Amino acid sequence: MLPFQYLRAEDAASALDLLQHRGAKALAGGTTLLDLMKLEAETPSCVVDIRDLPWKEITADVSTLSIGALCSNAYVADHPLVARYFPEVCQAIAAGASGQIRNMATVGGNILQRTRCPYFRAAGFACNKRNPGSGCSAAVGYHDLHAVLGVSDACIAVYPSDLSVAFTAADASVVLASRAGERTLPLSEFLLPPGFTHQHETRLEPGELIKAVLLPLPDAPHKARYLKLRDRASFAFAIVSVAASLRIEDTRIADVAVALGGVGTVPWRSKSAEEQLVGRELSSDAVNAFCDALLAGAASSDARQYKLRLARGAINRILHELEEDQ
Ligand code: SF4
Repeated sequence: MLPFQYLRAEDAASALDLLQHRGAKALAGGTTLLDLMKLEAETPSCVVDIRDLPWKEITADVSTLSIGALCSNAYVADHPLVARYFPEVCQAIAAGASGQIRNMATVGGNILQRTRCPYFRAAGFACNKRNPGSGCSAAVGYHDLHAVLGVSDACIAVYPSDLSVAFTAADASVVLASRAGERTLPLSEFLLPPGFTHQHETRLEPGELIKAVLLPLPDAPHKARYLKLRDRASFAFAIVSVAASLRIEDTRIADVAVALGGVGTVPWRSKSAEEQLVGRELSSDAVNAFCDALLAGAASSDARQYKLRLARGAINRILHELEEDQ
């Protein structure tokens, strides 16, 4: 690990001031950043510890649930308001990492976690994300677990967060704080596919912090779940995951949201595909047409075609389970 300066912020104002240091990175739970620093995939010259900031509350008003970015994942998963309105969020957290990590990891850090692509984490391999312009070792090497949606010629890394998949299905937004004030972005715009800036996975600017996640409360009762398919039953990243919510009225779909994890460079969702389902009965034909639309444009990789078949199966399974839950 390279030498770095450690600074501990007393409050939000001092954190945002300290983050003005060139090369500064915020440290909250530390469950991702410290690993990456040991691997020298992240090399901040200054680490600003923000664990004393007060962004640790979960509150609701008539229309929105607000989750402080420094809430631990375990706290969110056990919170009655989250369980009541967004069970898929609780299930996504429970499906991720170990109990010890969930106690330490924060909501903001979970969203900002970086890819598990082994070449990104191994110095000595070409990686456009770690060293822009150096090439992509995964493209010519092992890539069975990489992304099939939202990829570019420069990077095919999967976005790893379970929680962000559930947040995406729930139409989450992130509140970003800086010395200039606050701004709010939909999570779907905050997270970036590789494109031309494959080294950046988000729109977070230097000196900015995620302050909170906002979830619009459902305007009608619905059912929601999170399903994760992985190599082993615990402590493994998703090969494919699905967060979905469904409301059926008079045997027809009144509202539906489906977000996929494990297959894309960002959580994958298509609102236009969902609109095609509204007003229809939940038949196999309807779900297959939905999958065709959602998965359109997937990379044609022989090694990763299995992910598309798994995604179709997972979507079918979760939607029919949600239908039975109604
Ligand atoms: Fe790096 Fe992305 Fe290629 Fe992995 S897939 S080696 S993260 S550029």
